Amino acid sequence: MTYIRGLKCRECGRSYPAEAIHVCEYCFGPLEVDYDYAAIRASISRESIAAGPRSIWRYRDLLPVDGEKVIDIGSGYTPLVRAENLARELGLRELYIKNDSVNPSYSFKDRPVSIASSRAIQLGFDTLACASTGNLACSVAAHAARAGLRACVFIPADLEQGKILGAAIYEPTLIAVDGNYDDVNRLCSEVADQYGWAFVNINLRPYYSEGSKTLAFEVAEQLGWRAPDHVVAPIASGSLFTKLWKGYNELYQVGLIDRVHTRMSAAQPLGCSPVYTAYIEGTESVRPVRPDTIAKSLAIGNPADGYYCLKIIKESGGSCEAATNAEIVDGIKLLARTEGIFTETAGGVTVACLKKLAAAGKIRPDEVTVAYITGNGLKTQEAVVDHVVRPLRIAPTLESFEEALRQRELTLV
Ligand SMILES: *Cc1c(COP(=O)(O)O)cnc(C)c1O
Ligand SMILES: [Zn+2]
Repeated sequence: MTYIRGLKCRECGRSYPAEAIHVCEYCFGPLEVDYDYAAIRASISRESIAAGPRSIWRYRDLLPVDGEKVIDIGSGYTPLVRAENLARELGLRELYIKNDSVNPSYSFKDRPVSIASSRAIQLGFDTLACASTGNLACSVAAHAARAGLRACVFIPADLEQGKILGAAIYEPTLIAVDGNYDDVNRLCSEVADQYGWAFVNINLRPYYSEGSKTLAFEVAEQLGWRAPDHVVAPIASGSLFTKLWKGYNELYQVGLIDRVHTRMSAAQPLGCSPVYTAYIEGTESVRPVRPDTIAKSLAIGNPADGYYCLKIIKESGGSCEAATNAEIVDGIKLLARTEGIFTETAGGVTVACLKKLAAAGKIRPDEVTVAYITGNGLKTQEAVVDHVVRPLRIAPTLESFEEALRQRELTLV
């Protein structure tokens, strides 16, 4: 059963068949999946979802797939953690961490890629490809392995070791481009035109991006079927941020939750913050920048959905913040120290911005707040390796151990 009616231009509303296309031929607007919401509303219920699998596929009726076969590596159903220690430090009363660093390839990208790879199979492709800032490469390579598709993933050459390895282990064709993500993306658009491949975030982008809605669905279900009062989430291309908003509002549209009053706040690294800059300057046009940040997974200088992110921030009454490299490292350490969660640099950006928003009163203490932690710290070890405690090397004797403890106490005061 599918509820997809086709694709639709977000700008002019023209309809297209549900194929591997992503821009409107008439106005160059982005294409989006068009659903039969009335039919979904009639068939979906909280109970039917609760009886579904413990993965993103429990929300299948709201996802753009048809046919039986989907590519499932166990994405989603990640913990929503009540963060009491962090909340206390930040002066908030009800704070949650959506810990999406524990997906199969260790980032939230497994959600959109599950959808895109399923759609690629349904549309008859034999090669899965992507332009990646790192995590996407890992996820595409993993899903291609599972699906029996060939994989060709493009990354900027200066990526963290953990992300190169995290993709390479699945044996894709791994192309390291001398340039930044925006260069990689430009090249991939040409490759996509030339070769008949399924680029998950180019020609399959309308399907791919829908996968991020499950991060809204899950949180609403985990909160007992309600949307949070305030959300803090990172922006790279802006796909995740816009789809969180779409996800919450779809749940309302199909009758699963009350009207949405969520304030949507965005987080960017200061070294790549085109949306933040536009927000501060009060303009609607997002000017491209040249990224220079340790948050490589967010280093997109020309965000495709930047304009829509700005609109959502404004429409929802949210805010936008940015974090320096030092604040990003502090953010990673703060989350680890208070909640026992080790996130990558993107999560450091989110926590650092959450902290600033709380300190500035932009998040009110009584708001039920959810911060989205999107990737795993073991992939960006370079960022923190010089900022953590070192092991105390000892001889295997009690004497040596006690000497080490004394040294440790001295360094603590
Ligand atoms: C890709 C990515 C993001 C943001 O993705 P967009 O949808 O492009 O905004 C956030 N966090 C991590 C860890 C990512 O890999
Ligand atoms: Zn159009």
